[in-house]
Amino acid sequence: MLNLILFGPPGAGKGTQAEYLIKNYQLLHISTGDLLRSEMNAGSELGLEARKYMEKGELVPDAVVIGIIKAKVRSAKNVRGFIFDGFPRTVEQAVALDEVLENNGTPVSGMLSLEVAREELIKRLLNRGRESGRADDQDQSVIENRISVYNQKTAPLIEYYRNQNKHYGINGVGSIGDIACRLKETVDKLDR
Ligand code: AMP
Repeated sequence: MLNLILFGPPGAGKGTQAEYLIKNYQLLHISTGDLLRSEMNAGSELGLEARKYMEKGELVPDAVVIGIIKAKVRSAKNVRGFIFDGFPRTVEQAVALDEVLENNGTPVSGMLSLEVAREELIKRLLNRGRESGRADDQDQSVIENRISVYNQKTAPLIEYYRNQNKHYGINGVGSIGDIACRLKETVDKLDR
């Protein structure tokens, strides 16, 4: 199994690069952001609860997202591996993911960490907000809060995976194709 974590701050290009990885490596894509947005659009109880946090740029509580991930991993049959996009975002989530995957007998293969400077992130997110209409990409103060939440709660995961020798830093600036090539170089080494 090949279990990849696509990591990086909001606007680093995780969703875009996940599309490329899914096509090339036949992995099951699990994006907690996409799953939460579809719950929100369906108006489910979980979606309504999640909206309160998402519209402010705060993290949805760990118990909620960990529950979603557990259900997804356990229900997946005959997959070559997973690509986690936007998860884990806290140390508690990373510990839970290690547990779930250990029970599955297939640990995390590597964390691919897209590196992009703050000014570029804000520019990309505002642009995506204009093009996609995504509410949390349209308000600069929400964007800035998401980046500071990332710095406080999510960036410590770089150290968490570095301690397991699973952290791979990838320059996330350049054309989509160039960044995909950089990812491929690392993923090919892990996919052996
Ligand atoms: P994303 O699409 O990954 O940028 O996520 C959009 C929003 O969904 C985030 O700003 C959070 O409010 C929420 N979210 C997504 N993934 C997680 C997660 N792993 N933990 C907590 N909140 C999350």
